[in-house]
Amino acid sequence: MDLRDSLRESIRTVPDFPKPGILFKDITPVLQDPPLLARCVGEITRAFAGDGFDVVGGIEARGFILGALVAHTAGKPFFPLRKPGKLPWNCLRESYTLEYGEAELEIHTDAFPAGQRVLIVDDLLATGGTAAAAARLVSRGKGVLAGVGLLVELTFLGGRAKLRAAGVDDQQIRSLIGFGEGE
Ligand code: AMP
Repeated sequence: MDLRDSLRESIRTVPDFPKPGILFKDITPVLQDPPLLARCVGEITRAFAGDGFDVVGGIEARGFILGALVAHTAGKPFFPLRKPGKLPWNCLRESYTLEYGEAELEIHTDAFPAGQRVLIVDDLLATGGTAAAAARLVSRGKGVLAGVGLLVELTFLGGRAKLRAAGVDDQQIRSLIGFGEGE
């Protein structure tokens, strides 16, 4: 079956989680399906193989799982982007806006050497605030953004526009499946 169709079947939509009106895209069934998970990881890894990447950053928490698998598959180092106060070493921190309120992401100052091409991985692109903060951390750490790889994109929330405003081109963003409003 086409990867997109398999993902559409596998990803579970949970209405009103974590709050009313949100259709939560639960990727845990994908994690329970090793062949499907391997196809996803292979697809994200291959999508960025052209221009290449030196290191993979995974965004807390589901981006840790996918990002670490992509890094392992490519034989590249991995670093975590975490919520504040979780990383023990010297950090860079970026704030961003959520639907309600503010959030922050941190990386260690030694997450990657200056000049390295950094691939950011997360499970899902919604409004793009999280991925844009990750992109800003890459440039503050003097890295070069190789791209943003995602399983899911909620295409109606303007994530690509927010990333464009943060200097990330459309071609640098690769999601394996898109969902429209109400899907
Ligand atoms: P955003 O910053 O709006 O692009 O939100 C992306 C982050 O929030 C990702 O780390 C996702 O894991 C999580 N997220 C946002 N909306 C959803 C959703 N509908 N289903 C699952 N995760 C979501």
